Amino acid sequence: MSAPRPPAFESGYAALPERLFDRQAPVPVAAPAWIALNRDLAEELGIDPAWLASDAALQVFAGNAVPEGATPITQAYAGHQFGGWVPRLGDGRAVLLGELRDRAGQRRDVQLKGAGRTRWSRGGDGRAWLGPVLREYLVSEAMHALGIPTTRALAAVATGEAVQRETALPGAVLTRVAASHLRVGTFQYFAARGDDEALQALADYARARHYPQAEGALDLLRAVVEAQARLVARWMSVGFIHGVMNTDNMTISGETIDYGPCAFMDAYHPVTVFSSIDRNGRYAYTNQPDVALWNLAQLATSLLPLMGERDAAVREATEAVHRFSPIYAGEWLRLFGRKIGLAAARPADAPLIEAFLQGLADHGHDFTNAFRGLADDRTPEGLDDWAADWRARLSGEDDPHGVMRAANPAYIARNHRVEQAIEAAVAGDLAPFVTLHRLLARPFDEQPDMAAFRAPPEPHEEVRQTFCGT
Ligand code: AMP
Ligand code: MG
Repeated sequence: MSAPRPPAFESGYAALPERLFDRQAPVPVAAPAWIALNRDLAEELGIDPAWLASDAALQVFAGNAVPEGATPITQAYAGHQFGGWVPRLGDGRAVLLGELRDRAGQRRDVQLKGAGRTRWSRGGDGRAWLGPVLREYLVSEAMHALGIPTTRALAAVATGEAVQRETALPGAVLTRVAASHLRVGTFQYFAARGDDEALQALADYARARHYPQAEGALDLLRAVVEAQARLVARWMSVGFIHGVMNTDNMTISGETIDYGPCAFMDAYHPVTVFSSIDRNGRYAYTNQPDVALWNLAQLATSLLPLMGERDAAVREATEAVHRFSPIYAGEWLRLFGRKIGLAAARPADAPLIEAFLQGLADHGHDFTNAFRGLADDRTPEGLDDWAADWRARLSGEDDPHGVMRAANPAYIARNHRVEQAIEAAVAGDLAPFVTLHRLLARPFDEQPDMAAFRAPPEPHEEVRQTFCGT
């Protein structure tokens, strides 16, 4: 038998101009122990199973050992948080180990979250506790299983150290895998400093990595606008509320990132907000497309210095950002059309979809179950008139029930279930986490013995707020 082969890290980002990042090794922890390991993702990344099974892997995912050939760094970024400008954020609790080339030849970032203090930590401890680590693990993997672009969770490791929040809580490190960690806020950081050279290096890096067909900064902007319009439409189609759509939490790649106070809606109410810190409902469900557009306008502003003559650049960048709305609307119609059984919805079908959503809101029906019920010919109570129109429209469709079963998940990461799994894990029982994770890997499949997980929360189980992962 040959010796375990450690993963071959590349350091593409660390090869960019030095002021884009800071060299920083993860801070070691007292007593690493496995919580979860994503073998499917490891396989996709070409990681040797023998290495993965070794203590060396545990030490790497805890931040106690830097893999050979890796150049650990933290990344600089800024951002608008709840609309307010913060010139200096950066990786305050995360260390990028580097990139791995996956089986499809794509470079993927491998980042340790909760890896200790960095030059960006400000007053923070650089650590994460078990709750947010398990939340991100569960929800990001659930999003992936729903077919929604997202960062992934490769591993979760207990640190054996306490993290002080309101009380002392068990510490953990999450290994996050992303197409990259470039954010709108990464561009804002250098634009705000008038550092066109860094901006150019970033834009070139982003194009090479995510949009090789894009020819310049304007093309890059167009590509990000399209990717984000499609992404947010997908969120809306499963009732996902990101919760903290600050510009530092919006990727250039078009992946969902940063599962802090996120949640899936139970009962459909368009103004649903979960985040405890979102007092004005800025990031409510229904506001998400508008906020994405606002964030993309910040990206456009940051890229202007790379777009040549000012007046023409402003005009072209504005046009590029305004493409968001028609792309979003088209994707929304396509996705929600499929949710009511239309393989290819037309603009004239939009009122039928909107009437269904209005009916759900009027009666407070569960978003996920109402749509999934349609696949079994069950229309929610109080929507009989709507049902008659709907059946008439479906008569010409080939396989509406098949279309609906593929578009409407039976299982989502319901907030009360996520909270229950976290509570049990903190008390030392990982079984509910493992069960939930396994269930959510197949969200569209009927899993008869798991029917209880389809139920919305009982009043006493309801979670009205989720909190940032700090
Ligand atoms: P987030 O809420 O995860 O989007 O983080 C916003 C900013 O706060 C980022 O710059 C993070 O690196 C930083 N941050 C969050 N939690 C911590 C922590 N525990 N220690 C240090 N920095 C943190
Ligand atoms: Mg963040």
